[in-house]
Amino acid sequence: MWQGRPLWAEIDLDAIAHNVQELRRQLGVRTELLAVVKANGYGHGAIAVSQAVLEAGARRLGVACADEGVQLRRAGIQAPILIMSYTPVWEAEKVVTNGLTPTVSSQQLAFALARFSTQRGVVTSVHVKVETGMGRFGLSPEEVVPFAEFLRALPGLWVEGLYTHFAVADEADKGYTWRQYEIFTSVSRRLPWIPIRHVANSAAILDLPDMGLDMARPGISIYGSYPSHHVGRTVLLKPALSIKARLARLYELAPGDSVSYGRTWVATQPTRIALVPCGYADGLQRCLSNKGSVLIRGRRAPIVGRVCMDQSIADVTVIPEAEVDDEVVIIGRQGDEEITVEEVAAIADTISYEVFCGIGARVPRVYFKAGQVVHVQTLVEEKGYKEELEK
Ligand SMILES: *Cc1c(COP(=O)(O)O)cnc(C)c1O
Repeated sequence: MWQGRPLWAEIDLDAIAHNVQELRRQLGVRTELLAVVKANGYGHGAIAVSQAVLEAGARRLGVACADEGVQLRRAGIQAPILIMSYTPVWEAEKVVTNGLTPTVSSQQLAFALARFSTQRGVVTSVHVKVETGMGRFGLSPEEVVPFAEFLRALPGLWVEGLYTHFAVADEADKGYTWRQYEIFTSVSRRLPWIPIRHVANSAAILDLPDMGLDMARPGISIYGSYPSHHVGRTVLLKPALSIKARLARLYELAPGDSVSYGRTWVATQPTRIALVPCGYADGLQRCLSNKGSVLIRGRRAPIVGRVCMDQSIADVTVIPEAEVDDEVVIIGRQGDEEITVEEVAAIADTISYEVFCGIGARVPRVYFKAGQVVHVQTLVEEKGYKEELEK
């Protein structure tokens, strides 16, 4: 039995490998895979996930900021790492010395990257992002061609990629996505010398695999969650993450007794209560107060009262056999019952992405391969993956 904090996340690296292989099959051999591991691998742990996806055939990794790339480099990961969000000029040196691939959209950043690259005698690969309708980051279609030509002329830089990002690929109506795609292809036709074109996020890979182009950028699907309920289920994804706890305390309430802050829940009958050592700081959203549930002994126990920062309370009156130290499932399967991340996200009026990213850094991550623990990462220690790297 797990001897660490009585709250932990289990990550099934075989499920992640399965998802990568299914996505590769969906895309075909012509399209290479960049696995998006930003935000600590959507909460799953960027280093362990990166190793798993690279082993499963992904060729590259995608992050949001330079430090996320540096973290992977320090763990010994050598695959190309694309920074997909804005990089400020003052991080240019860090980007170059760590061999990261930034997305460049300003002359100042380009000059700084070129200067540090030539100083060190290296060539830094860069990608250019076209704004085709996301209304966020990137250069307008008119700006892109002259900007890419400008980058091409700078010493120390190599324009390796051209890309865009879809706003509504996860919706049923793909009209807007097709329009974004057409804007992108009309620009990319004018830059035939850029070798890697990429547009597809998870939703496009699943529903519009012909948009795979040279490379695709799946994120959420790698972790086994579909981008939305509109997206087709033709590719079978396996959820990789569960969150589990050990039941901390059992006690009885009499009618009129209340639980937790605000006294939002008051017993109307004799009630058996279980204390669960998981709170909103761990990723159990406070808005699940009096709405969510957990699994104990294969059955649903409703969350009663306010979810606190570090603990929450479940009604186990209908589970009389529950005992202290029982496994409590917050996300995942237990017996025939399952609480999916999508269910939690729906109650919290958000998306699975945010639920994953909300899992606190203090929640231990326990990694499984073939049913065996291969690596454990807690707030204070790390076991296993160094040995993995060395073997
Ligand atoms: C986050 C992100 C992705 C991954 O999106 P998913 O919906 O998780 O597949 C792809 N591309 C860019 C530019 C991103 O920022």
